Amino acid sequence: MFAQLKSAIGAGLASRFRRLCGWLGLLLAAMLVAAPGRAAQSESRSHGQLRIYFVDVEGGQATLFVTPDGHSLLVDTGWADHNDRDADRIVAAAKQAGITRLDYVLITHYHGDHVGGAPQLAEAIPIGTFFDHGPDREEAPVSGWQFTKAGYDAYMKLLATGKYKHVVLHADEKLPVRGLEATVVSANGTVMDRPLPGAGAANSTCGTADQDPEGFQDPDMSENGRAVAIVIQFGRVRILDPADLTWDRERMLMCPVNKLGHVNLYIVGNHGMAGATSPVLVYGIAPQVAIMDNGATKGGGIPALDLIRNAPGKPVLWQLHDAERSGEHNTDPERIANLEAPTGRGPSEVNDKGYMLIVTVSRDERFAILNQRTGQSQEYRAN
Ligand SMILES: [Zn+2]
Repeated sequence: MFAQLKSAIGAGLASRFRRLCGWLGLLLAAMLVAAPGRAAQSESRSHGQLRIYFVDVEGGQATLFVTPDGHSLLVDTGWADHNDRDADRIVAAAKQAGITRLDYVLITHYHGDHVGGAPQLAEAIPIGTFFDHGPDREEAPVSGWQFTKAGYDAYMKLLATGKYKHVVLHADEKLPVRGLEATVVSANGTVMDRPLPGAGAANSTCGTADQDPEGFQDPDMSENGRAVAIVIQFGRVRILDPADLTWDRERMLMCPVNKLGHVNLYIVGNHGMAGATSPVLVYGIAPQVAIMDNGATKGGGIPALDLIRNAPGKPVLWQLHDAERSGEHNTDPERIANLEAPTGRGPSEVNDKGYMLIVTVSRDERFAILNQRTGQSQEYRAN
């Protein structure tokens, strides 16, 4: 009996001891392997670089910024519908970036190609905070205001779930994204009233090339004019994302003095459509490299393509799509992510491949652009 008891206690202790050793062993192994492993993995993923994924949402915007330590900002959510196409493409970009949630989503304005995909995206990936410029004020006679309102209402419904933080941005504020120096230069129709560091010189283009395009309403009363425009400074590289900001607001930013300064990477305004991308902006910022988020049949207009190509310093132009109607005015096919367009509509719709352009920006003066379709990349030194 005693011997049995002793052996039972012994067995119990031995088994507890083994279990304890097992747990300690696992813990030790986890500490030894996982801690340096995690650091090495994150380092190997980002190399201390800012990564920017230009997601193809067929003529809308969805641009994902991921900081070296994995904090993320998505600028716009593409379109609604299309069987979750844009949400799926954004999630694929996030996965490629090694992130499982979007810390911040900036809704630049409430047009369907920017806010439309927000409800579908929120179903597909966790989101922390939404930024925007405040209420939708688009109304008749601005054409399409009903569609804008529908997109805004769906977004408001999403915010009303209480699952997300919501921050309204104003001109001259910094975005509270860790590791990203991003300044709001225009929001809700108001531009910042001081120049950015290093900017503020007179813009010689003012007064000579600042005629509005034909049919342009000045001031613009659509959501485009209220768009949140940001400038990101990463090391020596200055990046401008004006969303769909209009000529009149561009002029307020650029005349009589250039408040933005020289830009290394210009995300072309309004997908290369009329009403944005004025000479006073493009000649003033004299971009080194420009990326146009056009679709096959939306944006990529000849005036914007030619204006950028001929701007001071001869900017290098990249496009998300070959613009079907712009023929030889398109940039070199090697710098176009998608040569094919989606086909069909509704249930018979067949998607194109949706290739991305992926930019990596180093703390020094280097940045590179990778064409996901060709696998080729081009490196630049910030000038
Ligand atoms: Zn747009």
